[in-house]
Amino acid sequence: MDLSFTPEEERFRKDARAYLDELLHGDFAEIRGRGGPGDEHACFDGRLAWERQLGADGWTCVGWPVEFGGRGLSLDLQVIFCEEYARAGGPGRLGHIGEGLIGPTLIHFGSPEQQREFLPAIRRGEQLWCQGYSEPNAGSDLANVQTRAELDGDRWIVSGQKVWTSNAQWSDWCFVLARTDRDVPKHKGISFLLVPMDAPGIEIRPIVQITGTSEFNEVFFDETPTRADLVVGGPGNGWKVAMGLLAFERGASTLGQQFGFLREFAELRSAASRRGRTKDPVLRQRLASMWGRLEIQRWNSLRMLTMADRPELSGPSYVAKLYWARLHRDLGELAFDVLGPEAALCDGHPYELTAAQRLLLYTRADTIYGGSNQIQRNIIGERALGLPAEPKVVG
Ligand SMILES: Cc1cc2nc3c(=O)[nH]c(=O)nc-3n(C[C@H](O)[C@H](O)[C@H](O)COP(=O)(O)OP(=O)(O)OC[C@H]3O[C@@H](n4cnc5c(N)ncnc54)[C@H](O)[C@@H]3O)c2cc1C
Repeated sequence: MDLSFTPEEERFRKDARAYLDELLHGDFAEIRGRGGPGDEHACFDGRLAWERQLGADGWTCVGWPVEFGGRGLSLDLQVIFCEEYARAGGPGRLGHIGEGLIGPTLIHFGSPEQQREFLPAIRRGEQLWCQGYSEPNAGSDLANVQTRAELDGDRWIVSGQKVWTSNAQWSDWCFVLARTDRDVPKHKGISFLLVPMDAPGIEIRPIVQITGTSEFNEVFFDETPTRADLVVGGPGNGWKVAMGLLAFERGASTLGQQFGFLREFAELRSAASRRGRTKDPVLRQRLASMWGRLEIQRWNSLRMLTMADRPELSGPSYVAKLYWARLHRDLGELAFDVLGPEAALCDGHPYELTAAQRLLLYTRADTIYGGSNQIQRNIIGERALGLPAEPKVVG
């Protein structure tokens, strides 16, 4: 198995690196490394300007087909771009839900009118999106969504509640899973609707997370109208569209994220040396073991890339989320142990968390979002190990 990149791919890496380094050490130096998990509120205007700059220079949506405004880059090149982005300390992307989730979904399932209406603004970095899937009783069991929508002339009228909606407070649009038919089995009565966040009847209530910030929100819809034609894939086909979108969620950016983890690890290693903590034999073991796990993650990502066109060899992709989520959570705990008692201290009140504190606190979420580790193990049980389907709980 050849896990190396070609000379052409390495040339692309050089170009991407030069572009990112120039901007992030020049006009956008202030936002370098900002806006990541637990730091979502930082430098909002600067990061919005960054989205537009990337869009103007053709560095958003690089994997979208050329006819939809992208560059049509191969998965390998997309991963290289994500790796370089993380290595350069690119800021948390405000446009990632538009670019990585709804954009590919519209390209795959949307009507030509929907594609024309939304894709250009997403690509230019001018339109932000959020994901209205989860509800208080529909997380792992997503098909249980109770938010409902009824067709009333030329509009859908949406009522219900979503929860854990990341970035809703900054978004222009939300894609909403809503029940549009109660008389059919639950997977079949769901539609995938596009709802403008400034429509009447929407209330956004931020949820304070353990980081003290509010990346996610509750979103209430009280007879909120949206246009009748803004249903993706047709009424009642929402489950198929929703599952298609989740496949995009595990794309190039997660394969490239190991470089971001490596940056975090490098800072930790330096901090350990500066504080003389490398004399502690147990910490030395843990640092070395973490480095080994990061290397394994890298090789597994490369293996997945090599197998991208051979779905029968999908073992490495099944374990990827399980593996990196646990690894990253352990990295957060290691950061705290390296810093010792100082890790728990903040300046003044209200306080700003340090990078290590954000890492520890935010990584608790890694084993939950995008499908919890337990759900991921169920998938491995059924699809990779061929175990019988999970027994349904009755009652
Ligand atoms: C930081 C963060 C951001 C998020 N952003 C968004 C967003 O933008 N939009 C959105 O729609 N959602 C978002 N989510 C929600 C996320 O998708 C859900 O939290 C996740 O799917 C789990 O659902 P739940 O929280 O309802 O937990 P539940 O489904 O209630 O699960 C509770 C516990 O039971 C376990 N469990 C449940 N079912 C099974 C089973 N069958 N077998 C074994 N164990 C089981 C779970 O693993 C978990 O440990 C976000 C979550 C987080 C943490």
